Amino acid sequence: MTINSSKRQCAICSSNDFSVFFKQMYLIDKLFFDLVRCNECGIVFVDPLPSKRQREQMYSRDYFEGNKVSGMRERGYLEDRERYEREYSKIFSTLSRFKRPIGKLLDIGCAGGYFLDMARERGWSPEGIDISEWASSYARGHLGLPVYTGEIFDADLPLHSFDVIHAGNVLEHVEGPSAFVKRVYDLLKDDGIFVVGVPIYVNSFLFYTARSITKFLSFFQSKNKGAALTVLKLNKLKLDMPYHLYEFSPHLLKRLLEQAGFTVLHTHSYIEYPETIFNQMGVFYRILQFGFITLDFLSRVFNFKAIHLKAYCTKKTITHNF
Ligand SMILES: [Zn+2]
Repeated sequence: MTINSSKRQCAICSSNDFSVFFKQMYLIDKLFFDLVRCNECGIVFVDPLPSKRQREQMYSRDYFEGNKVSGMRERGYLEDRERYEREYSKIFSTLSRFKRPIGKLLDIGCAGGYFLDMARERGWSPEGIDISEWASSYARGHLGLPVYTGEIFDADLPLHSFDVIHAGNVLEHVEGPSAFVKRVYDLLKDDGIFVVGVPIYVNSFLFYTARSITKFLSFFQSKNKGAALTVLKLNKLKLDMPYHLYEFSPHLLKRLLEQAGFTVLHTHSYIEYPETIFNQMGVFYRILQFGFITLDFLSRVFNFKAIHLKAYCTKKTITHNF
């Protein structure tokens, strides 16, 4: 079914020709939200756009207590520091390959400040922004970090002043990804590096696999069926809130970054394991574990579309030595 909405324009290509991709994917209170796909460029996004009040409601403390990995509920932000540190140390190691001097680092969507804390330990001058009052006060109060509560458009930050800007799992949550990326471009120094991480769930190989497994398992007993459906948000019985307003793919992320003036230097795709499945017994969970390990291995070796994507980019005019 094709939708011709004159009210919305595609965030990537400005088209207003969309089709339904996944009917009634999300729920807030009693309101359903669909996923629709742009017929011009292919980006998948939430429709209608949740209101500002609905989006603020989504990022209460509960959001940080109910961390999700591949659609499955895991430990909360505060209990899961080790997992974040493992991911962040890989970013610092990749950054060191660009051979830029250590300087000012901005983390957009910094949550409780773990990335900034690690940056400070490594000699960077860290600053952070997060829209969550709870998370930003945690970063200020518990870790003593300079963190602003709000959006990057409101923060009084000097232009062309940051050596590194990191935005991990943020772009898919913002109303206007194009304006967001342009703002980052303006805040970054000419030879600075922008590190951006997004989930690519519905464009991942795993999404198609999970959807096939779900259909295959549909004749099994209901307890296993529920667990299979939970992977990658496919459980229609437990509808989530529309946290991810946009579903990127490697191609669409690159296009968005290049439209803002960036050159992508390096990308890699990877899978985050939901640790919950490793604590469960039974044949079904063994199959799921084997599936995740195999797919992670394949995605690292062949750099194919796994669940997450990280891109490192710089401004077009600058030559690089990566
Ligand atoms: Zn489009």
